[in-house]
Amino acid sequence: MHILETRERTVKLEGEIANAVVSFADHTVSLVALISDQQRNGKPVIGFGFNSIGRYGQSGILRERMFPRIADAEPVSLLSEDGCSFSAAAIAATAMRNEKPGGHGDRAGALGALELAVWDLNAKLRDEPAYQTIAGHFKHSLRSESASVYAAGGYYYPDNSTTRLHSEFSAYRDLGFNAFKMKIGGATLPEDLARIDTALQVAGSGARLAVDANGRFDLAAAREYGQAIEPMALRWYEEAGDPLDYALNRALAESYPGPLATGENLFSAVDATNLARFGGMRPGKDIFQMDPGLSYGLTEYARIIEMLESTGFDRAQCFPHGGHLINLHIAVGLGLGGCEAYPGVFQPFGGYPAQCKIADGLVWPTDAPGFGLEQKIELRPHLDALR
Ligand code: MG
Repeated sequence: MHILETRERTVKLEGEIANAVVSFADHTVSLVALISDQQRNGKPVIGFGFNSIGRYGQSGILRERMFPRIADAEPVSLLSEDGCSFSAAAIAATAMRNEKPGGHGDRAGALGALELAVWDLNAKLRDEPAYQTIAGHFKHSLRSESASVYAAGGYYYPDNSTTRLHSEFSAYRDLGFNAFKMKIGGATLPEDLARIDTALQVAGSGARLAVDANGRFDLAAAREYGQAIEPMALRWYEEAGDPLDYALNRALAESYPGPLATGENLFSAVDATNLARFGGMRPGKDIFQMDPGLSYGLTEYARIIEMLESTGFDRAQCFPHGGHLINLHIAVGLGLGGCEAYPGVFQPFGGYPAQCKIADGLVWPTDAPGFGLEQKIELRPHLDALR
């Protein structure tokens, strides 16, 4: 059993939306295909993966560094011990050959796309949904076949931003979501408070609404917003300051009593360890949002979970950034607190196919083999282009 070919396609995100810091209008995503020599129904079994949404495709790193290393490897060295599946850990290690530690940069996302494709491939070889493959591999006994999800949106649109916020969240509620997340920090504090008020009209209570500043604030602004929103007892207050400013996060945690959330812009298990060591994150309260598609894939993400659990945190505190099928399967397979969903935005990658049941804030992956990306009609032309 071996990999015949690795392919990549850089796909542009659709839509003209922005958060407090970046516009997504020119963002791209690397879609990776691992074409195996195995066949099902006369066709090769192909694993697909992609890197984190909200960044850029990594065609250069994949094609110039990682794909040649995979192609040069002894095929048997990329297999699991029993030879019945591909080893995501071995493929990740091979793709990282000759890379120095530290300074993770864009290669962490490049490997994320490649490594996640291995899980799709293995699940398809076993003819089962990826969350079952993931649970089995990491010896996690599945307690539920659904994940708690919240609808992430509430971006700043060029026109009628507040009116659109209300109609956007109402549409999510009609889809079966009962928790929401919106952006703050891209307008003045009074304007943002008015936007939060609008969102609360749909959410019903602070416990069902999170806010996300995307790392925009210094400590003074983070505290000012914190004081203003504290009485609303929001679900969480996300990425108030720079993702790597652990001292800011710790200082904010000392003054803001509600849950804080951060971690979506960390690139490795070592980064996450430093957040746990120095960021003031509170066991049983704060939310970790590290994203496998941005931080070397699921093998590295499992190391992060292990580190968190060995330092007093709980995997129920983990909600990976990235509202798409891959992270849904990971959240179910590892029994995480939940994950986000991007219904209607970040196409063709965001959200779930119509076959996924959504009810009462829970989402069930379908029983399609792998991550079920083929069921997402917006994505299918891009998958077909890689076959
Ligand atoms: Mg965020």
